[in-house]
Amino acid sequence: MSETASQDGRASDAPHPLLSAPLAEQPGVGPKLAQDLASLGLTRVWHLLTHLPMRYERHEAEAPVAELEPDRIVSARGTITATRLAGRGRKARYEAVLMDGDGRLDLVWFNMPFMRDKVRVGDRLRVHGKTKQRGPGLQIANARVERLDAEGEEAPPEDERVRPVYPASERINSARIEKVAQSVLPGAIEVIEDHLPEDFLRERRMPSLAEAYRLAHFPDDEEDAPRGRRRLAYDELLLFQLGVQLKRAHLRTALRAPALKHSAEIDKHIRSRFGFELTPSQDKVLSELVADLTREVPTNRLVQGDVGSGKTVVALYAMLMAVAGGHQAALMAPTEILAEQHAAGIGRMLEGSKVRVGLLTGAKSAADRTAILEDLREGRIDILIGTHALLTDRVRFKSLGVAIIDEQHRFGVHQRAMLRAKEDDEGSTPHMVVMTATPIPRSLALTLFGDLDVSTIDRKPPGRTEIKTRLVTPDQRTKVYRYARERLDKGERAFVVAPAIEQGSTETAAVEPLAKELAQGEWRGVEIGVLHGQLHPRDREATMEKFRTGAIQALVATTVIEVGVDVPEATMMIIESAERFGLAQLHQLRGRVGRGDTPSLCVLIGAPTTDDAVARLQAVASSSDGFKLAEKDFEIRGPGEVFGSRQSGAAPFRVADLVRDLELLTMARRDAADWIRRSAALDAPDEALLRRRVAKAHGEALGLADVG
Ligand code: ADP
Ligand code: MG
Repeated sequence: MSETASQDGRASDAPHPLLSAPLAEQPGVGPKLAQDLASLGLTRVWHLLTHLPMRYERHEAEAPVAELEPDRIVSARGTITATRLAGRGRKARYEAVLMDGDGRLDLVWFNMPFMRDKVRVGDRLRVHGKTKQRGPGLQIANARVERLDAEGEEAPPEDERVRPVYPASERINSARIEKVAQSVLPGAIEVIEDHLPEDFLRERRMPSLAEAYRLAHFPDDEEDAPRGRRRLAYDELLLFQLGVQLKRAHLRTALRAPALKHSAEIDKHIRSRFGFELTPSQDKVLSELVADLTREVPTNRLVQGDVGSGKTVVALYAMLMAVAGGHQAALMAPTEILAEQHAAGIGRMLEGSKVRVGLLTGAKSAADRTAILEDLREGRIDILIGTHALLTDRVRFKSLGVAIIDEQHRFGVHQRAMLRAKEDDEGSTPHMVVMTATPIPRSLALTLFGDLDVSTIDRKPPGRTEIKTRLVTPDQRTKVYRYARERLDKGERAFVVAPAIEQGSTETAAVEPLAKELAQGEWRGVEIGVLHGQLHPRDREATMEKFRTGAIQALVATTVIEVGVDVPEATMMIIESAERFGLAQLHQLRGRVGRGDTPSLCVLIGAPTTDDAVARLQAVASSSDGFKLAEKDFEIRGPGEVFGSRQSGAAPFRVADLVRDLELLTMARRDAADWIRRSAALDAPDEALLRRRVAKAHGEALGLADVG
């Protein structure tokens, strides 16, 4: 939104001096008020401008106390004649009596000890709140109060109106913020320049930016505020989408990727490596991908599909196309275990071929690393698999044709840009394919990945069986392990996951003690392996391999096995202290089983104590649809939490709400795409202001610097 939204939602400068002026210098803002405003981060006029009300209240006209009725939201004024503190601990409350002539109104505040300093005998106050009958008289609990005698003359009685409620604090309440807004903002609003043309706004029934702020701060009736808010939310979304599309247009026009060859022969050759037929769903995604890769326009595609939907082969196909064309390919995974798994799995599929696969993780010795880097530069490695170690400066490819990022949600926009830059040749860039198994709600996909084309693998390979999910309390643990033991004895394999490695608190299960407990108890005689991030990669690989072959039947692990681990014979997933895991995480963990044809089981052992945790566990237990769960997660936690904004690289929105404003988002996305189609660099003279604001708001997060 205008000059306001940069990464922290605030830009450092604003073009008009009236907007950038310090609040402390405004008439009527004394040092104390200025400090109180500053405690909320409000030091400049435009800070206040963008400090939007969080909601609005309909205020009745002020009435004499004697005329008030019970169970109504009322406003009244009078003098405080008595106060007292009563009760203790959780029952502590502060009581006051407000009189106007003969009328008496009782006031009470619970757990708000600071009201003692705000409401004192002799104060002239206007109070607002809901009346309740208490004995013979009326009482308002937790009333909002406003001093009438603070600045000399007493404020006149108020008529009925819609009143903004501002985000406030103990130091400064909404009424005081409102008063400053009323005196400072009207003048400031007049100088706000709009970056969108009038016609454009008229077509969309949107008010001007200035009008939108006026409606949000000073609504005349109930419809005003939502109209203002709508424009401000749209504005945020549009600026972001314009940034995204700008970047995308630049990529398409300024950079070239190698157009990879594709033929029936190449196709047959690659498929012969897989050992199974691709599903129609995989084939559909593949054809979209092949169409991308055979062009010079750099591919920028997101392949999403629930856990176990078979994304790896699609990635491998793309990588082998690069190799067939004489180029290299890279696959970046978020964890070492996953990188190791990919290297092992892809190595198996390519056994006996001429394709050379390398693995680069942080765990490699310096000598190994040097050798790998050398091979890479000389073109002696065709496919390099690794972790974010791939992003370090020294990694250089001879000719990187395809770069794959697995589990994109773990990486940000930024990492994508870095991997892209691995191709040395100026103006040349690899095709980029990102994969995610954490299904992304549509609204978020449009936002975070607005610059990506999206393909979805929406069906799993055949022969999978439904996973039964059970939610149990810790007192049923023994029963769970006893039952699992019966199945282990029949040759099945199990994962047990705990949040910690070693025992920290008594409430949280930990891998090491748990493995010991099982080995000496219910699972005596079972081959149990232990897996976590602190083990040496060599030991880790050996353990995984034993689990794969069945030499180990049970793997007790941390969430290092959360993504990518693929052992079809594993049929049981037992998660300890399940309340400690996020919803997406639980779904991912569950996805480690149900990959073969034996019915699989997932047991969540948990003692949730918060509403959120209960909601999470119940959601996982009641649905195995990753997309539904992602929407749910989004609802429970909100977008910022689901993909921490630091990771996602997307600026948080201050006004727009990605759950409620999906329609606005769709509109903003379409409008931005149209706009950039007409003006690819956003550089027409009448677009200068718009361009500046896009750059200020999102330039850094989106890496628009190279766009010019
Ligand atoms: P994810 O989408 O979670 O990354 P993977 O690519 O790891 O899934 O695939 C999961 C399992 O399904 C692997 O064992 C893989 O070999 C197998 N698989 C993938 N595609 C097919 C297919 N078309 N038919 C049979 N099995 C398949
Ligand atoms: Mg995968």
